[in-house]
Amino acid sequence: MLSRGDSAVVYSYHCAAPMRDLQHEGIEMHPPLPSSERVLMGPGPSNIHPRVMHAMSTPVVGHLDSEFLSMMDHLQQMLREVFQTENRLTMAISGTGSAGMETCLVNLLEPGDKAIVCINGVFGTRMKDIVARCGADAVVVEASWGEAIDPDALRSTLSETADVRVVALVHAETSTGVLQSMDEIAGIVKDSGAMLLLDTVTSLGGAEVALDNWGVDAAYSGTQKCLSCPPGLAPVSFSKRAVEHILSRKTPVQSWYLDTSMLSKYWGSERVYHHTAPISMNYALYEALRVVLDEGLEARWQNHRALHEGLVAGLEAMGLSLKVRADIRAPMLNAVKVPEGVDEKQVRLDVMSRFGLELGAGLGPLAGSIWRIGLMGHSCQASSVTTCLAALGWALNRQGCNVPDGVAAALERIGG
Ligand SMILES: *Cc1c(COP(=O)(O)O)cnc(C)c1O
Repeated sequence: MLSRGDSAVVYSYHCAAPMRDLQHEGIEMHPPLPSSERVLMGPGPSNIHPRVMHAMSTPVVGHLDSEFLSMMDHLQQMLREVFQTENRLTMAISGTGSAGMETCLVNLLEPGDKAIVCINGVFGTRMKDIVARCGADAVVVEASWGEAIDPDALRSTLSETADVRVVALVHAETSTGVLQSMDEIAGIVKDSGAMLLLDTVTSLGGAEVALDNWGVDAAYSGTQKCLSCPPGLAPVSFSKRAVEHILSRKTPVQSWYLDTSMLSKYWGSERVYHHTAPISMNYALYEALRVVLDEGLEARWQNHRALHEGLVAGLEAMGLSLKVRADIRAPMLNAVKVPEGVDEKQVRLDVMSRFGLELGAGLGPLAGSIWRIGLMGHSCQASSVTTCLAALGWALNRQGCNVPDGVAAALERIGG
């Protein structure tokens, strides 16, 4: 509503709108909440682990209660373990993954700064939008949707562009199912002296994320993908260098709510009130992280990889193929090509109505040509893979496709 330099008159008013009488209007009383259980195999949210559901019914206490604060200390420590970092400024932003994205960008960038944004799908595009809203210049390194960012393209853009503050990149691009290999890219950014910003919304908890090894300066994630927690928090982590940069900014962070210099005073030892922490969501994330660490990071990445391979074996036995070439596939997000002549939306509707199974549609240029099958966190189970293959086969056969069975091939690959 407001642009820089505008003035605003703030006044309060009395809301005099009459209450609606729904019964009188012939509208039934409000029904109970929907309670169908789904097999969530889209791009997120994933199914919630029962321990996490249970944690959300823990009694709500004050956000400055000593027991709550002690829980928050452990939560931060678990986040550091999962992010594989020693970063002190590691915490959960009150908001979804996009709030994490916005937090990283608004804190690191000032008007006039330059950022290189790597775009090979929806989320790189979203970062570019936020960079522009920060008043910064976005220089784009692009790859087509379904391809990884080419390290050489990044290297040459970096060498042609002076004073790059941040290089922003998506680790697992959920719109296409590409997992970006990090070693070479991390080295290139490090040599350039720019800060590295990484989107780990879909990868965290499902594939290796190693902030310190990769020299990542700012990273964000979300709770509803491979952490299998409801949507609502965005884990973030900032390196020492990033924090020093933020503290030496010439202009205040444009967002009051997402200003880490203030948020860190609640998450740090001072415990200064900033906003009321969403208590139950923090309980949920706490338990979700305990589930991840109980399973073990390596075991969890391997499980995602193994079930992804099982799913792919089943899909291939059915004559289906994936959009992304094998060596850059994200295990937790499988983009499957819709066969010629198939009504892709009808397939999604059929598997939902008959199996209660949610599949994702394609986005942007991939709309209509792929399905997105998520294997995230608690949804990443052998039973989800077999249900999904059976459901997909049934829905395709309904359209006269005559596809072979995929379940046996999947089970053979998964083993056990
Ligand atoms: C889901 C997602 C986001 C956005 O998260 P929201 O929770 O939907 O705000 C950002 N980046 C990636 C890679 C994602 O998959």
